Amino acid sequence: MLTASLHDALNQQLNEELFSSNLYLSLSAFLDDRSLEGMAKWMRRQAHEERKHMMKFYEFIRKRGGRVRPTGLPQPPTDWGSAREAFETALAHEVKMSQHINELVNLADAEKDRATSGFLRGFVATQAEEEATLSDIVAKLGAFGTDPNGLLSMDRHLS
Ligand code: MG
Repeated sequence: MLTASLHDALNQQLNEELFSSNLYLSLSAFLDDRSLEGMAKWMRRQAHEERKHMMKFYEFIRKRGGRVRPTGLPQPPTDWGSAREAFETALAHEVKMSQHINELVNLADAEKDRATSGFLRGFVATQAEEEATLSDIVAKLGAFGTDPNGLLSMDRHLS
């Protein structure tokens, strides 16, 4: 059984994952609108990944005798000044998601719920990877993204 506070926190994270998926979908739509189809496709792959994360929380909450409670989600932003800004938003979002996961791990440890700590271990690693990948893309867009050829080659590279 999950404690009430862990049950709430896991549900909150499930909804965060769902919001992440929506944010990536919105980022994809923005990039498609700018004819950056490769980058848009990259964002859609992330949207799909985030939905898979959400389902992992679904299954875990259920397995531990809890109940999943989807909530109303905030509207994600829809416009950015450039492709670089779009990826900067994704990076800032992943940094925030890493903090959420860390707080969840701290809570699970405080509650001495080893099963939840173990479940979250995979997410800690995934977050570090997602931050690293996005940092790299943002750095490359900073270095080459203002040149149209650089932008197009990044678009192809990410597709
Ligand atoms: Mg995620």
